[in-house]
Amino acid sequence: GSSPNVSESTRRTLVIGSSGFIGRFVTEASLDSGRPTYILVRSSLNSPSKASNIKFLQDKGATILYGSITDKEFMEKVLREYKIEVVISAVGGESILDQFNLIQAIKNVESVKRFLPSEFGHDIDRADPVEPGLTMYNQKRKIRRHIEESGIPYTYICCNSIAAWPYHDNTHPADVLPPLDRFQIYGDGSVKAYFVAGTDIGKFTMMSIEDDRTLNKTVHFQPPSNLLNMNEMAALWEEKIGRILPRVTITEEDLLQRAQEMRIPQSVVAALTHDIFINGCQINFSLDKPGDVEVCSLYPDTPFRTIHECFEDFAKKIKENAKAVSKPASNNAIFVPAAKPEALAITAICT
Ligand code: NDP
Repeated sequence: GSSPNVSESTRRTLVIGSSGFIGRFVTEASLDSGRPTYILVRSSLNSPSKASNIKFLQDKGATILYGSITDKEFMEKVLREYKIEVVISAVGGESILDQFNLIQAIKNVESVKRFLPSEFGHDIDRADPVEPGLTMYNQKRKIRRHIEESGIPYTYICCNSIAAWPYHDNTHPADVLPPLDRFQIYGDGSVKAYFVAGTDIGKFTMMSIEDDRTLNKTVHFQPPSNLLNMNEMAALWEEKIGRILPRVTITEEDLLQRAQEMRIPQSVVAALTHDIFINGCQINFSLDKPGDVEVCSLYPDTPFRTIHECFEDFAKKIKENAKAVSKPASNNAIFVPAAKPEALAITAICT
């Protein structure tokens, strides 16, 4: 590499997609780990919330570089000029194929020690969702094959579901509270999935990057304490808000119909929801391929945030909202639940 004095923990890291949902968690974790962190930002930030995300990361120490991965020459220049050693891409579902240029640029500069393409979901070589989920998976599969053929050192992060209520029509459910009126349960609610906190997706992604054991491997996030089905998720949320909510069944046919509507991105989410909670795509295989590694076996002493803790945070938000609206000036009618302040601080250690 071009910077022989840089130690493992200070690898110069470029994150693409920092203004996005997953990218925000990864960038924060990169900054927390003390790495020099560069973020690629397209010059036209299309929403105020994205702009404030970027400002927050900049205040935390990120260096902003303006540009797009679709510009190969520019990407090569950036990688060389800033001696980038790690590249993490968290571009959204609609931009997966944009990564072809990025891969070419990484190949040409030869100094990148690890590349993480935009994955952050299921093992796309195993899972087989219906359309339009399948089209996105086929694009991610093409990117994987291109990386492997290019001989670029890579790691694929399969972090499964984000710790939140799994709404079938919302790409970023962690930004929304779990339901307060009724639960929509997929099928019989008995199929389990792994629910991982966004901060842990970031944290364990950064740990994986520094690790020789994850070189050219697929890292599966399977913390046993975060494996729940929808009935268990519903019961847990009821415990947090101190109320029982009605349950409505969303059948397999309902989900397939939402997928067939081909509204993007909602139908993609419906297709993936079907794959998770009907097909069991997160749990219907064993880690028997040579490229498989599991994050809890790699870092047995590092705890994962439990779904209890994450739901506790959501419950706190409701209480804060309730306080805000109880002031006489406000006319926002927000539901105030009779929350049971139960201490369920369980820390999960992977064993
Ligand atoms: P978002 O749509 O929230 O954000 C995408 C980011 O990529 C934005 O910052 C966007 O920039 C940036 N971007 C897109 N194209 C380019 C480009 N050409 N050059 C530079 N930047 C670009 O993405 P998500 O966080 O939803 O998705 C990221 C990955 O995570 C995907 O692979 C997705 O499938 C996966 N995912 C996994 C989830 C899970 O529960 N496991 C949940 C959600 C996503 P700009 O602001 O300029 O548009």
